[in-house]
Amino acid sequence: MPVTVLRDADIFTADAEHRVLAGGWLAIANGRIVDIGPAGTAPPGAGSDSVVDLSGHALLPGLVNAHTHSPMILFRGRAEGHSLLTMDGWWRAIRKPELHLIAADIHPAAALSYAEMARCGTTLVADQYFFADEIYAAAHASGLRAVIAYGIVELGDEARGKRELATAVDFVEHAARAGNDKVRGWIGPHAPFVDNSESLLRAEASAANAHGVGLHLHMAVGPEDNEHTLASRGVTAAVALDRIGFFAARVLAAHCLDLAAADIAVFANAKHAAVVHCPTAGLRSGRPAITPVVDLLAAGVTVALGTDNAAANTSYDLFTEMKAAGLAASHREGRAGALPAGTLLRMATIDGARALGLDLETGSLEIGKAADLIAVDCRGPGYSAAPDLATLLVYSGSGHGVRHVLVAGDWIVKDNQLMGTDLHRLSDAYQRTYRHFWDRVEAAT
Ligand SMILES: [Zn+2]
Repeated sequence: MPVTVLRDADIFTADAEHRVLAGGWLAIANGRIVDIGPAGTAPPGAGSDSVVDLSGHALLPGLVNAHTHSPMILFRGRAEGHSLLTMDGWWRAIRKPELHLIAADIHPAAALSYAEMARCGTTLVADQYFFADEIYAAAHASGLRAVIAYGIVELGDEARGKRELATAVDFVEHAARAGNDKVRGWIGPHAPFVDNSESLLRAEASAANAHGVGLHLHMAVGPEDNEHTLASRGVTAAVALDRIGFFAARVLAAHCLDLAAADIAVFANAKHAAVVHCPTAGLRSGRPAITPVVDLLAAGVTVALGTDNAAANTSYDLFTEMKAAGLAASHREGRAGALPAGTLLRMATIDGARALGLDLETGSLEIGKAADLIAVDCRGPGYSAAPDLATLLVYSGSGHGVRHVLVAGDWIVKDNQLMGTDLHRLSDAYQRTYRHFWDRVEAAT
């Protein structure tokens, strides 16, 4: 059995004991972590087929981007001055041009997004969009792990809602039949009540349960969800969803800026519900509300991190999301260090995997788990010695420091280069797609 040993790295394990192994080593065989140890213990050197010297590097679990919409790289920079967390801002900046997308636009866009995410250390992506078959192909080709939710928007058109749910179920079944253990299909109600009706939400939850998959949606992004359900039902959106049995399924709820105590209790009491905090998208939107991460964690709710789309964010760098989450929490709580750097790193790794139900497979560096990991080169500017590795990575680091990326033991990025993917060709194909798409949009307006 060929064994690869990565040695002399400072290892942030994200394991249950919160171990950090200075100058440690990790052994990989058959795509899995087969051994791990601190400095001073002997790696299985003699039988190893390859030994990689990682002195001066940090080794950590691959990062989990728990909320994005990869084709929306086509909208990068196109939503400046719009708040995408309001129905009006989303409709004007995104939805109107989005209706001109064709299937051929999706693969080049998603492929470039996955390449960008890989280059800055992401190994697992929770994607949500329509044209899910094309995203599936791009995710598969990238070598990354992905959970792709087919995005459903009803907006008062009941027939469309039914049709879209049927397409989502087809996609989930097709993804399951494909037997690719790295890419899975989910169902993605776009947002509750405002653009998906109660009857459709019930049907989405029951389809998710029937197929053993999760629901990936936007929730409490602005006052609109809650205003809608407070007026019609006298309760907030999360409570209303709970009452219709929505939380019986696995739920991945992005943003959640406006959560009352009763909403946090809904998440805490649900069997498999997680919040995805997207601090850059939230702060850029101009909303004064900030996801109450400290309260959610205190209630025992899993909180992951996401970049959201490239229009809301412009970047796929989860290092900047960790830093933004730390800044936002300190600002919200009015105290320094409201979210310790180690907590932020766990949100971007093991908690992201847990949010997707994949924490037995990935998210931490432990024996038996898939070898999904990244090496950050800490020999360059900005990474001078600091007493705490997590602080260094979160507050001094960026995705540009990621040198190697492995998924299931396969090298996805080696020495800062994508393996098996010609980034220039990907980029050229994308630029052509981008021009054609926006030419079509402009010709129609
Ligand atoms: Zn989103």
